[in-house]
Order: sequence, then C-alpha cells, then structure tokens
Amino acid sequence: MTQTHDLHARYCHAWRRFGYGAIILLAAIFPVDLFADPLPSAQLVDSHYSARQGQILVVKIPNEGGITRVQGTFLGRSVNFFPDTRPEEPNGFVGLLGIDLQDEPGIYELAVEVKTGERSEAVTYRVEILKEDFHVERLTLPKNKVDLDRKSLARWKREQAQVKQLLANDSQTKFWRGGFVEPVAGKRTGIFGSVRIMNGQARNPHNGEDIGAPLGTEVAATNDGIVRLTVEHFFSGKGIFVDHGLGLYSMYFHLSEVLVKDGDHVKAGQVIGKVGATGRATGPHLHWGVKLNGARVNPYALLDLPFKGSVQSAAPIPVTDSRSGVGSPEP
Ligand SMILES: [Zn+2]
Repeated sequence: MTQTHDLHARYCHAWRRFGYGAIILLAAIFPVDLFADPLPSAQLVDSHYSARQGQILVVKIPNEGGITRVQGTFLGRSVNFFPDTRPEEPNGFVGLLGIDLQDEPGIYELAVEVKTGERSEAVTYRVEILKEDFHVERLTLPKNKVDLDRKSLARWKREQAQVKQLLANDSQTKFWRGGFVEPVAGKRTGIFGSVRIMNGQARNPHNGEDIGAPLGTEVAATNDGIVRLTVEHFFSGKGIFVDHGLGLYSMYFHLSEVLVKDGDHVKAGQVIGKVGATGRATGPHLHWGVKLNGARVNPYALLDLPFKGSVQSAAPIPVTDSRSGVGSPEP
C-alpha cells in the first residue's frame, strides 16, 4: 500500500541511523500516533510506538539482503514474522503484534531477533499501550445461565481448558494470504472489549464482536486456514476455530449449523457455517473472535490490515501440518 511506502520513505533515515528499523502501522479504527520520534540516547531502544488495547500493529523489518529469519517477543507472547510478498512493497519481514484488550496501559518492549545467516542481532522497540474506552454493558439473563450449577461449571471449565490448549499452539506456517473478509455483513453491535455486568456481577470482557443477522445467514471464513476444532460449548454454542497460521486464530460462535469438520482446509470467503443462537445467546447473531498469539484483538482490525486482495505470488496452502515443527518461516 502507498501508506506503507510513504512511511517507509519518511522513516528510512532512521534506519540508517539505528540499524534495523521497523515500520509499525496501526491497523486500527482509530488513527493513533504512528511515528513518534526515535529515542536518541537510550540503549537498545530504537523507537517508540503506540497502539490501543485490542488493536493490531504491523511491524516491518526492512531486508536489504540476507535476513533469513525474524522472531519477536512482546509481553511473553510470540510475534512471528513472515516475508512481505506484496509486489509494491520493499523487501522485508512483517510481524503482526496483537495488543490484548486487557493488556495494562504502559510502555513495554518488543524484542526482535534478526537472523542473517549465522549472525543474530537483537533489536528492541518500545511500544506504548494506550487505554481504550470500552463500553460497559449490563445484561439480565436467566439466573440458571449466569450462576452455573456444579455440573455446568465443570463442563465450562473443561471446555475452557480445551480452547486454551488449542490456542496455545502457533502453527509455524502462514496459511492466510491477501485481505481478510467480513464473515457476515450484518449489524455490528460494537461491543468488542465491553465489560459485561450480568445480573449485577462483573464478568470477563466481551472478547469478540457480535454481528446481528437472520437465523441461517451464511458465515464465511475470514481468510484461508485450517479448521482445528468444531465444538458445541455451553456458552459459545456451536462454534468453529480456524487456524490461519503463525498464531492467528478466528472463531465463529452461536452457529445454527457447522458445515466444516476438524482438519478441513478452508479458503477466504468460503461458507463454513450458518448464523444461529446456540449456547448463551439472546437471539441469532454471529460472535466473531480473533486471537493473535494469545492476545484477544478486535476482529475488525483484520479488515484494516494493509494486505488487500489475493497475493499472486502466495504459495498454495501446504497439505502437511507443521504446527509443532520448529521450521523456518515460509520462503
Ligand atoms: Zn459475543
């Protein structure tokens, strides 16, 4: 995108000055402070960037030749970099950095390891997490759906453990490519991150976006990926978890029908289910959630990423499952 290109141009003097620089774009609904001045005196600290809770930062390490692998860590979470194959973009490695909706506002380090053949270089960036103004939502639901009985509580805990285990795996291959698509063009409630007070008790914040649509509306996969899990859970009802690779997962809940099964390879825009009201739902809607390396991010931030259309040079989805392999990023 030209935006990236402009920023690249604006920033290239800083690269020379500080060695490896990075382009960090904010893929967000809110334009925030993209390029604060680099901090000149601090050791290991090249730059200072900021993003709001629940947003995604696009981090780019320029490659003027020879970089073979880039791997980052932020708040104990992996940031898996991949080669930027956009034809109009300069060479480089890109990483998507997810800010969890409950990450505490403050300044943190993004530690990046840049490998050039045998040589390894550590680069550190400062990322400021800004507070987002999430809504407070008050819900009144039947008591038996809020205060769980012992059996339901045990079931919910089992289901939570199952999901947690699944999402802890970062596939080492990038399955997604090009732009992300909206799974349902319905009425967004805008309640991502909202604090829910149910029957007077504060609950976990809402970790996705709810999209109102008629019962039976087709639900599309947001991008290419592999269906890792299909469930029928107490709260989320009939649900699908799609692994897009490198630690990016999308989730589709409360479905009336699930049209895929575990292990299926899906394409962006492919119909994978139908809108319903299964689990804890007050009416037909899609709950769309996204996890990026363990961070709960606003799914709509995916639509704002500077990866559009389909990437001509992208390789087809690999048939082999490399999720637990150490491996190198895709060529
Ligand atoms: Zn929801």
